[in-house]
Amino acid sequence: MTHSTHVTTEQVQQVLGLVKEPATGRSLDDLKLVTEVAVENGSVRIHVDSLTPIITHKQKLERDIRAALDTLGGISNVIIDMRSKVRPSGSGRTDAQPIPGVRNVIAVASGKGGVGKSTVAVNLAVSLAKAGAKVGLLDADVYGPSMPLMMGVNERPLMRDNKIVPLQAHGVKVMSIGFILDPNKALIWRGPLVAQLINQFLNDVLWEDLDYLVLDLPPGTGDVQLTLVQKIPISGAIIVTTPQEVALADAVKGLKMFQEVKTPILGIVENMSWFQPPGHEEKYHIFGEGGGRKTSDENGVELLAQVPIEMELRSGGDTGDPMSLSQPNSATAREFMELAEKVAVQLANQSLAKPRKPTIMLKTV
Ligand code: ADP
Repeated sequence: MTHSTHVTTEQVQQVLGLVKEPATGRSLDDLKLVTEVAVENGSVRIHVDSLTPIITHKQKLERDIRAALDTLGGISNVIIDMRSKVRPSGSGRTDAQPIPGVRNVIAVASGKGGVGKSTVAVNLAVSLAKAGAKVGLLDADVYGPSMPLMMGVNERPLMRDNKIVPLQAHGVKVMSIGFILDPNKALIWRGPLVAQLINQFLNDVLWEDLDYLVLDLPPGTGDVQLTLVQKIPISGAIIVTTPQEVALADAVKGLKMFQEVKTPILGIVENMSWFQPPGHEEKYHIFGEGGGRKTSDENGVELLAQVPIEMELRSGGDTGDPMSLSQPNSATAREFMELAEKVAVQLANQSLAKPRKPTIMLKTV
């Protein structure tokens, strides 16, 4: 083969730059994601960053890059070195300090207790981790910490460099007040104390390096929750509700609370949407039908997922064996995986939005 048949660096850069990043649909050139291109004797080596850590996104990006390069001809070998570079996506507020080592905080909230907020937080966290992300889970539900049970870990955490080392379960770093307090002791926390405790947990825990920290908030929309969502730099919030009217009314209060403190809302997860007896076609809408969709539409937010009533979801919660991992091929596990991917996509898009700058008034003198 003569030298002239070989592809040039410029040719490679040109087609590569036009490839679309899967989460945002924007070109690699536009996002400046290609960090290095080396071409030698028809052999191509590329360094490219992925905006999300999601393995399926990275695989798609790699396929699209290879397909684009295929159109060139004269290439004998392509080596792609891909790293995930998840960007922090803040709410634009300046009063909440970033948490060391944490790129994005995802708050999981509900207007009232018992709707499955913790179940969603757990299955979202393990799905994100399974999808390829570095994930932490913080049980901020100080009134009823359920993570020790639901994640199947309960030890006293160790200290390192004056910081609390989170426990590890199902590929996720976990921290809960339940690891530290006597579970049988009833606790009466007053608002300021709760906020102080959670803040300490956020900043004094050695998270090290997280793409996403999933925060299981205490249920409700009272002073405690309001203080928390004001103090924590939340990238996006998810509201969990059942399709029942009373739950939806409280979910709307939750939406309003986040809107009030200018925290982006990722969307609504409708839990306990229906029950389908095993082997049966028919779905029974025990708590009503269509409530999550209607509330999402009315409030201009996305309906991120609909999770049915599942015996395995409940039993997995009780035994510390999240259904997303124990039954990965079930429709419910797939729904949680889709939820995880949607969240990653939304945060990636959000991270590209220009940060809101304070308006500076200039006066001519
Ligand atoms: P919350 O955090 O909103 O108080 P939990 O996640 O603790 O709610 O859920 C309350 C109870 O309902 C738990 O026992 C949990 O296992 C169960 N549960 C939650 N979602 C489902 C579901 N989709 N199907 C079956 N049981 C569920």
